[in-house]
Amino acid sequence: MKKSLLITIDGPAGSGKTTTSRMLADRLGYRYIDTGALYRSVAVEVQRTGTSPDDDDGLKRLCSTLSIKFVTGEKGLRILSQGSDITDQIRASEISMLASAVSARPVVRKYLLNLQREMGRGKGAVFEGRDMGTVVFPDADVKFFLNAFLKVRARRRYLELASTSSQTLAKVEKDMQRRDENDSSRSLAPLKPARDAIIIDSSELSADKVVERMLSFIEDRLHPSNPDLAK
Ligand code: C5P
Repeated sequence: MKKSLLITIDGPAGSGKTTTSRMLADRLGYRYIDTGALYRSVAVEVQRTGTSPDDDDGLKRLCSTLSIKFVTGEKGLRILSQGSDITDQIRASEISMLASAVSARPVVRKYLLNLQREMGRGKGAVFEGRDMGTVVFPDADVKFFLNAFLKVRARRRYLELASTSSQTLAKVEKDMQRRDENDSSRSLAPLKPARDAIIIDSSELSADKVVERMLSFIEDRLHPSNPDLAK
């Protein structure tokens, strides 16, 4: 039987974390947890309730009433907040920016830190985010940091958004750069690789190739004699 591991994948927007985390979790039969979706859900509630992202007391009150859940239904993995399906809503570009703003607030990070650790109990999961390997799960079994050139990441995101948004490639790139700067420069849990993270540049690699590479690192690092894991 496969050993249940806790695997973290951090990296900037558009680095391919979501696609590869899902694929890796699938290959291993693990749960996939998108922690960016949690920050985005808080942002949706901040917007819905008219809370200011600078108002720590307001954010604290909001967090104390939140109920955010991942559920797997007919339409795949969905995210529910206060019982409403907000899966599509969290992907709006203004929510990306708002998520980046609220994610710099200690009160929000504290609330989600506890929630994420709770979700990580029992292992057998791939967690994707910005601070999974550095802050939330410093003792994770295997840590990856995925990166790619800004131009490549922006193009990926632009193509993803093309059917639902009229944003130009230049605007997508500019927003992404701003969000990277916010996420990397904040004092609390900034985006950076953990000291023991395996860094993979996905600029010129397909998602399949990235996942193959991850599986071989997992095997090498933890199960040199267990070919079962990569099956
Ligand atoms: O990964 P995604 O782009 O959906 O994340 C949205 C925002 O949530 C990020 O720009 C970042 O500010 C924040 N985030 C974070 N820590 C995480 C995951 C996401 O600060 N672990």
